[in-house]
Amino acid sequence: MSGGLRTVEEQLADVLAAVRPLPTRTVGLADAAGCVLREAAVARGGIPDFDNSAMDGFAVRFDDVAGASPEHPVDLAVVADLPAGSADDPSLSPGQAARIMTGAPVPTDADTIVPFEDTAGGLDDSLTTARVLAAPARRGVFLRRAHDDIRPGDTVLDSGVPLGPRQLAALAAADIARVTVSEAPHVVVISTGSELVEPGLPRSRGQIPESNGLLLETLVRQAGGDVVRRVHVDDGGSAFRREIAAATTGGSRADVVITSGGVSAGAYEVVKTELGDALRFSRVAMQPGKPQAFGVLPSGTLVFGLPGNPVSAAVSFDVFVRPALLALQGRSDLHRPALRLPAAESWHTPPGRRQYLPAVIDRSDPARWRVRPATPGGSGSHLAGALALAEAYAVVPAETAVVEPGDLVEVLLLEG
Ligand code: AMP
Ligand code: MG
Repeated sequence: MSGGLRTVEEQLADVLAAVRPLPTRTVGLADAAGCVLREAAVARGGIPDFDNSAMDGFAVRFDDVAGASPEHPVDLAVVADLPAGSADDPSLSPGQAARIMTGAPVPTDADTIVPFEDTAGGLDDSLTTARVLAAPARRGVFLRRAHDDIRPGDTVLDSGVPLGPRQLAALAAADIARVTVSEAPHVVVISTGSELVEPGLPRSRGQIPESNGLLLETLVRQAGGDVVRRVHVDDGGSAFRREIAAATTGGSRADVVITSGGVSAGAYEVVKTELGDALRFSRVAMQPGKPQAFGVLPSGTLVFGLPGNPVSAAVSFDVFVRPALLALQGRSDLHRPALRLPAAESWHTPPGRRQYLPAVIDRSDPARWRVRPATPGGSGSHLAGALALAEAYAVVPAETAVVEPGDLVEVLLLEG
């Protein structure tokens, strides 16, 4: 605590204490992309499911070829041909081999694979005789054993894991067709401000393009949420009231409402005026993002009142809203990956508040990444252009007054 401000941790703890995980549903893998797994996924098949060849070549009995060399080649009679997908299990007597392709099941009588590269003829004439020129390094070479990776009944992925391309492929490989995942949070995004105009439309003096709505909608999507409505309203109150009523009643009830603007200390703060009693308005020891509002309405809807400056809204989303959206989906890790990188240059930080500075990573030396501010101009929370350059937030503790070149700084990586 400093100067009567709440810490980020205190505010986040309030938020997370209010989160109840959403219901689950069971879906086919193709519909599970981007969802969070809510029950451990258990392998039905093994990976691999049967002994198979890792190379194109010949399935052999190791003892037949253990002494093979260029000077003393060993000739084997090829008695079968096994493409991938073959169900055959030909018997092999001593001196016999089966031609085999990568992924085909290895005959029960074979224990080693000799790749084409280690034979005189290679693929040519490979259905008659295999002249083996080199002894396999050991019995079992190039043979992929059943269940090497996953056994049937093994947990492939635990509950709480988000399903991306690699996870879905692993589930499919383990012959899992359906998974239990979280419902997506339904989110309404309301930008407040009588000065706001849709980008591209004519403006009069004092009006500005509305940018927080798109920012927040896209961030929500990246966090697995479903934006059911995005709208901007003036500071008069009636439109805001209408939107809150629609988002908290009937079939259109949202799990989460995110507002931007109208929460700080000025006049015409519409979120404060309309929801002053329903939400807790706090001052948090961070920069940007000091004014924050949060509460749960009687409908169960979580409401985040974020400050209006674009950088403040973006940082506030990452610090408070994103963890809540992930927790609603039952995610086990709520936070962005953090690393510590040396600062590439010096910058000042606000006294008594933790700084979240839009930053870029200097990769000019791949062995020694460094972090620097996204814009040399400083950290103004109105600098929406700097956000476009940012690929990370540099997080500097409240006690630090200045960052010097080489100082190790915590860096939160943002997704692309
Ligand atoms: P407020 O938090 O409402 O006092 O707004 C702080 C600053 O952010 C003001 O300069 C607003 O014009 C600006 N602002 C608020 N909402 C938006 C928005 N949706 N898009 C762009 N700028 C905004
Ligand atoms: Mg405003």
